[in-house]
Amino acid sequence: MTDEVFWCTTCLNMSTRPRITFDSQGRCNACQWAEQKRTFDWDSRKVELKNLLDANRSDDGSFDCVVPVSGGKDGSYIAYQLKAVYGMNPLCITVTPPLPTQVGSQNILNFIGSGFDLIQLNPSAETMQKLNRAGFIENGLPYFGWLAAIEAAVPKYAARLGIKLVFYSEEGETEYGGTTKLSGSPFYTPSFQGEVYLESGFELVANAAGIPFGALDFYSLMTDTEFSEQDMKIAHWSYFEDWNPYYNYLVAKEYCGLVEEIETNSGTFTNYAQNDQDLYALHTYLMYLKFGFGRATQDAGIDIRRGAMTRDQAVNLVKFYDGQYPEQYIDTYLKYFKMSLEEFEVVLDKWANRKLFKKVGRRWQPTFKII
Ligand SMILES: [Zn+2]
Repeated sequence: MTDEVFWCTTCLNMSTRPRITFDSQGRCNACQWAEQKRTFDWDSRKVELKNLLDANRSDDGSFDCVVPVSGGKDGSYIAYQLKAVYGMNPLCITVTPPLPTQVGSQNILNFIGSGFDLIQLNPSAETMQKLNRAGFIENGLPYFGWLAAIEAAVPKYAARLGIKLVFYSEEGETEYGGTTKLSGSPFYTPSFQGEVYLESGFELVANAAGIPFGALDFYSLMTDTEFSEQDMKIAHWSYFEDWNPYYNYLVAKEYCGLVEEIETNSGTFTNYAQNDQDLYALHTYLMYLKFGFGRATQDAGIDIRRGAMTRDQAVNLVKFYDGQYPEQYIDTYLKYFKMSLEEFEVVLDKWANRKLFKKVGRRWQPTFKII
């Protein structure tokens, strides 16, 4: 079966990536989009952004937009743009992650210290753990609860505070590979969040976790009807400018106090992205078992598309880093999920794609070769 798998001819996105499309030259939709962006009329999108901001700009000093942040590069960058460049008054909202890292917690403090206003939402650790555990088992998404809270609670609390505009970071489907149905609009709805970002798994996970509906306020998305009654907008910032995560990192480092890890992150060659919590390494390891690509493939694709890496260099990095077993975190994971190593490995086995991997001893080994 593995002969059906193929890689983008420009980056290393795999045909197994959900919702991805390829053109007749074998280029994935992210690489096609990267090329289109070079000749794109960004000025007209800047006008669209200014019009949107002007329509929401407060004249009494109250908050006029919301940005979900984690202390990482992208949310910080957007908050900086809104405040310093566009003169808006953003309220930033963070959802406390499970297993926060030291550098992630420091980055939140540095962000506040750089002059930004922040509300921190703290869902019960017990409920969050149950949803993450159920997400790991039922959906192969080990921080499902946190993800759900970021998608659901941020717009919900914006609405409750009477703020009508929420900016999330990038539209990852168009930018990194996936459906292109949002490439023509900055706006989206809770149903898109549920289908794409939560992989339509909320009900399954919430039921498996055994959380009563009344305890899910932080996690349950508004319905599209409830959302339209709020007369608010959820937008992707990446619609309005040439999205470049590396540039965001440089800006966040300079203006928002962002610090990076000293060593490279587990499973990749970078040290400045997704540093906020320890479950990300498991998330990308599961992604590798499900689809055959990991964190290094994602990072290399970004670098190839911004012209900073050749495909050959990327192949070497991906061969070295992708699919690294997150050994250094295993004890942390077992303690967090309240599982034995055997129970934990049964879950990994459940998600390993038999068309791409075979088990050798206790580890899944790829039967494919990147070309
Ligand atoms: Zn590509």
